[in-house]
Amino acid sequence: MYCETSPAALQHSALTWRAQGRVVGLVPTMGYWHEGHLSLVRWAREHCDTLVASVFVNPTQFGPNEDLSKYPADLERDAALAQEAGVDVLFCPTKDQMYGPDHDTWINVPAVAAHLCGRSRPTHFQGVATIVCKLFNLALPAFAVFGEKDWQQLALLRAMVRDLNLPVRIEGRPIVRESDGLAMSSRNVYLTAQERRVAPHIHAGLKFLADAARKGAQPAELIERTTAYYAQHIPTGQLDYLDVVDPVRIQPVQTIGGDILAAVALRLGKARLIDNMYISYGK
Ligand code: AMP
Repeated sequence: MYCETSPAALQHSALTWRAQGRVVGLVPTMGYWHEGHLSLVRWAREHCDTLVASVFVNPTQFGPNEDLSKYPADLERDAALAQEAGVDVLFCPTKDQMYGPDHDTWINVPAVAAHLCGRSRPTHFQGVATIVCKLFNLALPAFAVFGEKDWQQLALLRAMVRDLNLPVRIEGRPIVRESDGLAMSSRNVYLTAQERRVAPHIHAGLKFLADAARKGAQPAELIERTTAYYAQHIPTGQLDYLDVVDPVRIQPVQTIGGDILAAVALRLGKARLIDNMYISYGK
């Protein structure tokens, strides 16, 4: 494995791999790897000839009052994990290498970005779509792997690839959780011991919602009851959103008529944690 910081050099190598007929797999990340990241990397390793993973804390997907400057980083540890997991190239450019001073082109997927995280982070998904498109153009992957932990991101990237005819397959992989149910996240390090103790209720609340949904409750009631669940079990948490949406279009559902996605974002101390649950009705 080697680390590459130059976008032009990565693209040059990728053109060579392509010409050699090698299947390139890409795993974009912001670093501070945990088992969630590694699950994507391991899956990709099984399905490609050349595996590129990126570690880049993309500034354009952070809002002005978010945690960009404090986002956890440990590139040395990430590189050791990447090497162990069979990554061929770890792409870790600087912000200036990825965004020239005159950068002025953006990708928007307005409908998919209208709700959930897009509502509380208005410029977030424009930054995500743009950086992922740039990474596609640099690594020229046959497929790229993303976690269902960021379900809306996955839906957005699928829409981008469909609408712009990008020659990349988007692969989604399941959420990796701690043994108590908390979804793994680089941001979990922000939690105090007390916050960490109550954080598994984020997932438990979604299970509570899913149980009620399977018993026939409709979205308004599901949201009301689960909001009360969070208020009771995570009294120090601040609900950013809790919603029931169409899993593909990410639009709120009023009356359940097929599979749904329940999604939550909750602020707990310094962390804003997200989680979701796909609820299948077996139709
Ligand atoms: P991040 O570094 O947080 O931007 O995440 C990089 C990729 O890892 C994204 O595709 C995330 O959806 C995915 N990911 C993050 N946490 C998890 C998790 N707990 N389980 C599965 N995938 C994850």
